[in-house]
Amino acid sequence: MTIETTIVIPTLGRPSLWVLLDALASQTVPLHHPVIVVDDRPDGDDLAVGDLPIDVEVVRTGGGGPARARNIGWRHTRTPWVSFLDDDVVPDVSWYRDLIADLRLLEDYPEQEIFGSQGRLTVPLPDDRRPTDWERGTASLETSAWITADMSYRRDRIAAVGGFDERFRRAFREDADLALRLGADRGRIVTGSRHVTHPVRPSDDWASLRAQAGNADDILMRAIHGPGWHERAKASEGRRKAHLATTASGALAVASLLSGRRRLATAGALGWLAGTVELARHRIASGPRTADEIRRMLLTSAAIPAAATWHLLRGIGRHHDAPPWRGIPELVLLDRDGTLIEDVPYNGDPALVRPLPGVREALDRLRAEGVRLMIVTNQSAIGRGVISEQQADAVDDRVIELLGPFEAVLRCPHSPDDRCECRKPGPDLIKQALASTGVHPDRAVMVGDIGSDVDAAKHAGVSGILIPTLQTRREEVDAAPRTCAGLVQAVDQMLGGVW
Ligand SMILES: [Mg+2]
Ligand SMILES: [Zn+2]
Repeated sequence: MTIETTIVIPTLGRPSLWVLLDALASQTVPLHHPVIVVDDRPDGDDLAVGDLPIDVEVVRTGGGGPARARNIGWRHTRTPWVSFLDDDVVPDVSWYRDLIADLRLLEDYPEQEIFGSQGRLTVPLPDDRRPTDWERGTASLETSAWITADMSYRRDRIAAVGGFDERFRRAFREDADLALRLGADRGRIVTGSRHVTHPVRPSDDWASLRAQAGNADDILMRAIHGPGWHERAKASEGRRKAHLATTASGALAVASLLSGRRRLATAGALGWLAGTVELARHRIASGPRTADEIRRMLLTSAAIPAAATWHLLRGIGRHHDAPPWRGIPELVLLDRDGTLIEDVPYNGDPALVRPLPGVREALDRLRAEGVRLMIVTNQSAIGRGVISEQQADAVDDRVIELLGPFEAVLRCPHSPDDRCECRKPGPDLIKQALASTGVHPDRAVMVGDIGSDVDAAKHAGVSGILIPTLQTRREEVDAAPRTCAGLVQAVDQMLGGVW
């Protein structure tokens, strides 16, 4: 059995991307599928990946963070496995061969179903001095569980849980969160034999301060996974409690000073100073103790407790009651007449095709997320002998010309008298769409303007959204599981995880 996986690399266009692509182009065995590079820069020219002996497909996200970039990446894949690589790792020359061997083991010996395989990672550090704070932070990747720097997942398992939680806006907890939702703490993810190197990137004075934003992500982790998530995620709790105490002392000092209570102000100031000195001492003692590193540690240690506290409060405000992540649909099925274009009964004339307002933009937003789109339409005019198949084709071609590509146009040509199962509210066309894409019914939506559209959805086990028009009957609106004023609103809801 051959092992099929697609490599997905989210990137901010850092120079390390080209080092990585070169390493993939120099593998001992050739890659089976094009590499998908997900360009997550908000703007700028398209990435020039240059002349490489491997196929690279570049997808742009417009920015949005690594969780969303990875989601867009895996939705573009069509293989049973997806292999995520961060854009700052360098795979060994045998990496791809070892990857295939790692995944083959999981396919050939499925005593227990395994959903993920993590690669081994090394962070080279200087051997002539102790590592800096920044270098130690990077080196901690070596022992971190379930990091996505080199992680392969079964695609259907990622899809089933709606992918990475895009409320994690930075590369910090989003990988541990997905791993836990996939059952990593129940043995669903193993470590393989393949190996990458993760060089330490250059840094500036303030990296450790910026990293405090991760405190807000910890609040989201707690909301999703409950107390005790640190242990389940094998994550360190860090110095949060000490930071809070230091910040509280500092706040006490300021408040007391303002209200003229000098003794209390002095006590608070001493408390703040003690906390700050302890933090700086700890960070300096573990490091190379050069003048530059000491300066950097003193500077940031004074600010880190307050920054950590601020981000904790920010996280509580934003995430304390966060609902489970649902993600967006993988497949959106669209009725044609009255949903995408004006309903012209029994139309066989492409010149009469008029898209409804905002539809093109709404569809393009779904396309940008990598959502698969199909049209599912009843054309009984063919069965009734009013128009020909060729006329119906010409109308569909015009729809595609105006509204962009669809993966398929699925059509029932029968009249109601034929009593077929493909005419909506029959489920057959939707089932056919699910079968041909391999998308699970839980991850698909059918959008239409009348009751038979949402009934077809129900019969096929997918979500239904009704967009009523003036022709839609009142009882159909009342019976619909979900209604929206138009496709624009329906897409807003889907992209917000409500569908
Ligand atoms: Mg319709
Ligand atoms: Zn039919």
